[in-house]
Amino acid sequence: MDGAVLWRCSVFLLLSALGRRNASRFVFTRQQRRFNSSSICCCSEKGNGPSLVVVGGGAAGVYASVRAKEVAPHLNVLVIEKGKLLSKVRISGGGRCNLTNGNYLEKQGLAGNYPRGNKELQGSYFNIHGPQDTMNWFSSHGVDLKQKAVEITLPKVKAKLKLDNICKTLPEYTQMGAMLVTHWGLTGPVVLRLSAWGARDLFFSEYKGNLYVDLVPDVHIEDVKDSLVQHRHHLANQKLYSSFPAEFGLVKRFWRYLLDREGLDGDQLWASLSNKSVNSIGLLLKQCSFRIAGKGQFKDEFVTAGGVPLSEISLRTMESRIQPKLFFAGEVLNIDGITGGFNFQNAWTGGYIAGTCIGELASSYNKVEAL
Ligand SMILES: Cc1cc2nc3c(=O)[nH]c(=O)nc-3n(C[C@H](O)[C@H](O)[C@H](O)COP(=O)(O)OP(=O)(O)OC[C@H]3O[C@@H](n4cnc5c(N)ncnc54)[C@H](O)[C@@H]3O)c2cc1C
Repeated sequence: MDGAVLWRCSVFLLLSALGRRNASRFVFTRQQRRFNSSSICCCSEKGNGPSLVVVGGGAAGVYASVRAKEVAPHLNVLVIEKGKLLSKVRISGGGRCNLTNGNYLEKQGLAGNYPRGNKELQGSYFNIHGPQDTMNWFSSHGVDLKQKAVEITLPKVKAKLKLDNICKTLPEYTQMGAMLVTHWGLTGPVVLRLSAWGARDLFFSEYKGNLYVDLVPDVHIEDVKDSLVQHRHHLANQKLYSSFPAEFGLVKRFWRYLLDREGLDGDQLWASLSNKSVNSIGLLLKQCSFRIAGKGQFKDEFVTAGGVPLSEISLRTMESRIQPKLFFAGEVLNIDGITGGFNFQNAWTGGYIAGTCIGELASSYNKVEAL
């Protein structure tokens, strides 16, 4: 790293890497330069022009760098990256990178997909550079995009999160969507959304609570019981394990799990199912509770909640309100989205705004110097 580059009079610093918790108090002095950089990408031209130093060569940092250089081609740009450039872009979506969400090309409601940031991002933020702009940008830079409608073939459930010691009944803590049962727990869109919205409260409750799942949200409890009674009537000679009303949309293994939970012998015939059991199966289908025992052990979170408070930066420029010429973009900010391309969109938008502002400032310095 050419340390001298950092100290010319017109140096902009963009932080796009998650570092110390107190990143907003970042004071950049010679003594405090503690970058653990194993890969530095530099596209600077020799000379005394203005310089931009970008810490973190992820989505936000690289997008901002390219944008700044587009606006101010004479700008010296240095990207400091401790690992591999754009590593998350490469691995996301199983290598296909869900870089934005095509359902929000008109931007209405887009901010509502950010558990941290939903209020602040309602303003001009996505109007400056939204999903459609992102798609245009990538297409115009030679990246072939495919818009894929997410086909939800899985039945939907309604899941409600209730955490220990936290008395909140926020609408966000009730979600509808597909749920997947794996050998290590529950996942799928509905669970990921609940953990995104509940991230802070989950932390404060030490990841302890209950999840109440309505497995047949579109069917009234009385109709659920009625379906069970009809099934008992029509398939009286079948074993409980081997069949169940198709309208419940369950897989056989999960049906067996429910019967086991009810303490029912799956080998017994439907004909022998008591009315009491019909009621209790019906109730279980409408409110199946699961204990949340702790945090996942695999460190497979997609995004970090927390970061530089949005009150400390201007979202029109991404510049720090505390330290001039210091910019932030991406996950280093207290912004995180639910899954579905929203986190990358935040990185592109923040990077674009910061890059534009830095490029314009660099150009204005040039004009002043030329006078
Ligand atoms: C497995 C996985 C899949 C994902 N899939 C999706 C998806 O499909 N859609 C979506 O929208 N989002 C997805 N995300 C989230 C998305 O990748 C991030 O929100 C996005 O990359 C954030 O961009 P960023 O530039 O802010 O941070 P990052 O991409 O994390 O970039 C920050 C960079 O800074 C570097 N760095 C950190 N500290 C230092 C330091 N001290 N010095 C120098 N460099 C440093 C890091 O090595 C990193 O390269 C996924 C995340 C993961 C982990």
